[in-house]
Amino acid sequence: MQFSDIYKQAHFGTKVELVDRWYPSSKTCSKCGHVQDMKLSDRVFNCQKCNHSQVRDENAAINISNAPLEKVRLA
Ligand SMILES: [Zn+2]
Repeated sequence: MQFSDIYKQAHFGTKVELVDRWYPSSKTCSKCGHVQDMKLSDRVFNCQKCNHSQVRDENAAINISNAPLEKVRLA
């Protein structure tokens, strides 16, 4: 099964969980992969490396969709 299939299922009400809870989905730049600290109050990810700027949740969603298959599972 491809991860994209799992991700599609997620949109039909099944939850996709990260197996690796330390996968830094909200701290990783979805564009260049740079990892940086984020405060919980930060609503927008501003990459210190490539200046990519994106709403935190959207950035995290992209990272989860790009995460290695072994790091996610259906809940
Ligand atoms: Zn970046």
